This record gives sequence, C-alpha cells and structure tokens, in this order.
Amino acid sequence: MSLQEQINLPKGINSREKNTGEVKLHRQHYSSRLHLYTIPPIDEITIEEFESFSLDRLTVLKEFEATILRNKSDKESKEYMNQVLAQYLPLHTNLSSEAYPIQQERRKDHISHFILRLAYCRTEELRQWFLKYECALFKFRFINLSASEQLEFLKENNLNWKCASIFLDDKEKSEMKEQLTTSSPHVNFASETFFEVDFEKVLDLVKRRVVYIKGGKAYVPMRDQVALVMDEFRNRLDKTLKDTCRALPEVDQEGQVMPILNQLNHFKSGQGYSCSNKIEGQITADDIDQLTEHFPLCMRHLHKKLREDKHLKHYGRMQYNLFLKGVGLSLEEALRFWRMSFSETNDDQFQKKAYAYNIRHNYGMEGKRTNYSPLNCMRIITNNQPGEGDHHGCPFRHFSEANLSHTLHNAGVTDKVQIRQIIDYVKGHHYNIACTRFFELTHGGSKEQGMMAAINHPNEFFEKSYQSSQESSLGNK
Ligand code: SF4
Repeated sequence: MSLQEQINLPKGINSREKNTGEVKLHRQHYSSRLHLYTIPPIDEITIEEFESFSLDRLTVLKEFEATILRNKSDKESKEYMNQVLAQYLPLHTNLSSEAYPIQQERRKDHISHFILRLAYCRTEELRQWFLKYECALFKFRFINLSASEQLEFLKENNLNWKCASIFLDDKEKSEMKEQLTTSSPHVNFASETFFEVDFEKVLDLVKRRVVYIKGGKAYVPMRDQVALVMDEFRNRLDKTLKDTCRALPEVDQEGQVMPILNQLNHFKSGQGYSCSNKIEGQITADDIDQLTEHFPLCMRHLHKKLREDKHLKHYGRMQYNLFLKGVGLSLEEALRFWRMSFSETNDDQFQKKAYAYNIRHNYGMEGKRTNYSPLNCMRIITNNQPGEGDHHGCPFRHFSEANLSHTLHNAGVTDKVQIRQIIDYVKGHHYNIACTRFFELTHGGSKEQGMMAAINHPNEFFEKSYQSSQESSLGNK
C-alpha cells in the first residue's frame, strides 16, 4: 500500500470524522515523555506508520522478553535495553528538544502502544504477554526518569497519592515508628520518607505484607513508590485490555485493521534479515568445510550429515543451500559444492533427480524465477517438521534432550551447568535464546562484548561469528 493510503483508526482511538482520502495530521501535544496511556491518540496515520510503529514497539517488547529470560545482570540488561530503546522507541527529555524530535518520538510511543493494545487484547494468553512486557518497558522508563520528572508524572496523572505537603511529618513518623519499622524492615527508618495512600492502591505491597495499614490507609516508604506506580499502570492496562477486547468487533467494521493485527501476533524479530554482510565473491566450494566453525548448530548438523551420507533429502538441501547462498556462495560454486558432495551420485542421476535444477531454482534461475531468501529460524523451527532420515530443522527444537546435550558437548559447551541452562531454555520453548546462549558460550562469553541481541536467523549467527573472528585476528596483528 502506498504512503498516501491511510487508515481509519478504530473508534475510541481516532476521533476524526469520515475518511476523506487526505492525510490530515491533528498534532497532539505531549508535555511529558511518559504517561499511563489513558487518552487514545487523535492523529490520523498512514498504513506505513501503522505497521512500522507497531513493529518497532513489538521489537522492543520482544527484546525485554529475551533479556528477562536470559537472566543477565542488571547492568548488562540496562545497557542493552538502552541501546534497543534508542534505536526503536527513543523518548528524550524536554531538555533535549533542540537536538531531538521529541514530539514525534512521543507520538510514536503513544500510537504504537494503542495499536498493540488492539492486537494483544484478543485472548487471555496474548493479554498476559502484552501486560507483562508493557509493564517491564514502563518500569524501565519510570526508574530512569529524574526525581523531578517522577514527581511531575505523579502530579500530572493525578494518582491520588500524597505529595510533598502530605508526606508523614517527623512527629507522625515517630509516633508510628514501631509499626513502620516492623512492616518495612528493608528500609532505613531514620532517612526514609513515608507517605499515606488508600490501601487498595497498593494491593501488591499489602499482599506481600511490607506496608503498615491503619484505618484503610497504607504507609508506604518512598523507595517503594515504583511498586505503587507499577500497580496503577498494571491495573489500568489490564482493565482496558479487557474493555478493548469486548469492543473489538465494532472497531474494524471496514476490515482494514484486522489483517495487520493478525500479522503482528505472528511477528518474530529477525523475519526480514537481509544477509547484507555476506562475503560474496570471496568464498568457493572448497572453503565450506573450513567455515563450518562459524555455522549455527542447524547448519553444522546438515553439513556433517552431508559429509557422512554424501546425500541430503529435499528439505535439508533447501535449508542448507539457501543458507550457503546467504553466506555468499555464487550459483556456480553452489553447483560445484553439491556435485562434489554427492560423490556417490553419478552425473546422470544428479541431473535426473533434479538436484541441479533445485539448486538453480533456489537462486531464482528456474521456475517462477523467485530469488529465494535464506530461511529464518522461525520457518526452520515451525515448517516442515523433520521425519525419519531427515536432517533439516533446528537442533534446539527437534533433537531429543540427550542428543542435544551430546551435540552441545561436541561443539565445545562442556560445562554441565551451562548445558542445563540451554536445555532449560529449550524446555521453555525459547529456542532462539538457547541458540544465542550457545553462541555466547562458544565465542568468549558476553561479558567483554556486552549483551548481544537474540539470534533469529542462521545467517545472522554466521555473520556475527565470522566478523568476531576477523576482528580478533586483526587485533592480534
Ligand atoms: S535457533 Fe536458528 S540458527 Fe540456531 S540452530 Fe535453530 S534454526 Fe539454527
């Protein structure tokens, strides 16, 4: 669809009148960079914005998911998520308005939240996922606000908590000393400031019995303020997700939004990986054996089986051939590689069984002449499940636990605790995180390099591995 095509945002999200075919921008002004998303956006947006805003936010939420699962240190996670946010969903302060388009950043944040709210309201499972990682994003941002921005945020959002003038004064505080120290032993009583709030605002703290309650009021240490804010954010979002779900049938009467929302639910980062760093022209069929040390386990397995059996079945050939194409093997060299590898097949069979035809087909030289891209992890993991005698697929998804442990050991991960960690990711169906952990463990860990993004494409694995070896050999010179 063209840039000029526009979409009617659903009722309750876009307050504009009938679509006239023009792109009108009713600019909303955003005075602060963080909010509770209580007021829907009133802009009109193009289809392109609708897609790119929502995909960028989804990338951020998926990275939060990966970061939490990988159990990295707070420092590593913070540095990494700061990079991700700077790339996909930056929110600069008012002080940076000269240097950054802060109104546009806030508009994108606002609209993208509401689009994903629509996409993720439809089932309990989707709602829980969205709620969890929107909360993670919000908390990350709130903690990183300055103290004055936090106070401003509380006031602006009318959170009904006591502000500076009604914090407990010294007299009130000392009268409740015994109760406050008993209920909040984790704080330094002398230096801590306490404030009073309706107890139902802090049910999370009440459930955990870490606040003193008297006459329907809870007395909360200032350092637990973030728990209050999070409670408020979570409850509001939980409710509005359910409300949105109920309103959804009315929202998309023109049928424009639902197809995009369906795509968003199936989005996994890395789908559009472009293999832009391939080492075209430099590699030949004779280099492949040497390069396998940079291959992910799926491609190492295919290469090993090809060498052992001197043959691969259809899906194995397709998965491996497209990967080698992404690495930079030209069509001529690919034909030479496969011909040499099928050493027990004569020339006649090689032609008759369409092996050469299929290789050329992958390169867009036969049939519909589509220039096929290397398969990403999602397709390898979910499509064409391997059967008896097949070697395609993803070892993290398709190997037995014993076979995977053995394969990891042979690939250099010998520590039982590390193997267990990878197996645990696999048991939780986090195959890409398992693969990323394998990469980190076999490439000197991530401590010195900082945290890396989750791997979503076999060629991404190869390129990262190949580049890191090039960099370290340059560094050794
Ligand atoms: S996660 Fe992706 S790159 Fe890693 S082994 Fe599986 S399919 Fe290959």
